[in-house]
Amino acid sequence: MGVPARSVYLDHAATTAVHPKVVEAMLPYFSEKYGNPSSLYGLGREARKAIDESREKVAEILGARRDEVIFTGCGTESDNLAIRGVAFANKSRGNHIITSSVEHHAVSHTMAQLNKYFGYEVTYLPVDRYGVVNPDDLARAITDRTVLITIIYANNEVGTIEPIAEMSKIARARRIPFHTDAVQAAGSLDINVDHLGVDLLSLSAHKFYGPKGVGVLYARKGSAFLPMQTGGSQERNRRAGTENVPYIVGLATALTLAYGHLEDNNRRISQLRDRLIDGVLKIPYSQLTGHPTQRLPNSASFTFQFIEGESILLNLDLLGISASSGSACTSASLEPSHVLVAMGIPVEIAHSSLRLTLGRENTQEDVDYVLGVLPGIIEKLRAMSPLYNTRLAQA
Ligand code: PLP
Repeated sequence: MGVPARSVYLDHAATTAVHPKVVEAMLPYFSEKYGNPSSLYGLGREARKAIDESREKVAEILGARRDEVIFTGCGTESDNLAIRGVAFANKSRGNHIITSSVEHHAVSHTMAQLNKYFGYEVTYLPVDRYGVVNPDDLARAITDRTVLITIIYANNEVGTIEPIAEMSKIARARRIPFHTDAVQAAGSLDINVDHLGVDLLSLSAHKFYGPKGVGVLYARKGSAFLPMQTGGSQERNRRAGTENVPYIVGLATALTLAYGHLEDNNRRISQLRDRLIDGVLKIPYSQLTGHPTQRLPNSASFTFQFIEGESILLNLDLLGISASSGSACTSASLEPSHVLVAMGIPVEIAHSSLRLTLGRENTQEDVDYVLGVLPGIIEKLRAMSPLYNTRLAQA
């Protein structure tokens, strides 16, 4: 096998490379300024100051108070903490939770566990063919026993952006805490918690050029939730455990960088995305998945009838292109994506999905390289597809 002509990373929804400035900001906190932030002497105070400054930066971008920012171990932990924490704290008020049918597994598997082992009733709101939740469905689903609503901000598989502000208004009128999983949205969309009207919001550094293994849960002052990790009094008793100082510094630096050049970055990336989408849709029997306009600036996702998404990925990989068939967490399984199925895409077509997510290092040449090789890959795979050949014979 020869060396590919080019190496093109198009899986930024799975993870991103840590920005060099983020690495630089983190480095001193590993072996120079390594104190425990709870220690009272100089080294400890230095670490505490780094966390305080990081919290300040994150709070500013969220439009939040510093004490509403909780550092966690990842986006999954933030989602788990928000959902279980609020559900358990409000157990006496009710046992009904509302979510959507297109959540990341960090949310949907938490729901399944709350239902199976803790007796919570979960309503999964449907979506339209673009993956959008209808706020009227949310209003209708609320009962006197509803203790939490959690809806993803931007979908990790198809990039669709949900009408969060509209839905949080409905929740607020009924005094029900509203959480959003903003893991994919953070770094490109507005995450100001007052603009969104949310009570809880999750984000994760590795989606916006920060390190893996660190996240934030924003929890509006007054939100009742039970901590899931008990121990020391870190994070104001809401998340025990010695703080991961270098990673917290990395998260805050990455978030500041992302929101420093937001419009310019989004404009450049969405132009590349549109070039990619226009080119890919010239391939016969290809379809864009997700909303045509209300989608993340970096996200392009498709189906290619008659073939398997996995075989497209393998062929792209041989040509130096890293892509995904959906979310990184489901791409190893043979189950069709629950997101595509919820959008009404037939199971056999859902199996042919491809997700291409752009990032800061991608260029027009990268896009043109993909557009140069993808049609040939699809054609080759279809030539081997019994389904396609039957269809051709019938035509
Ligand atoms: N929520 C969404 C929408 C995601 O895309 C991801 C990661 O892919 C997560 C949650 C989990 O974040 P983490 O990988 O930091 O646990």
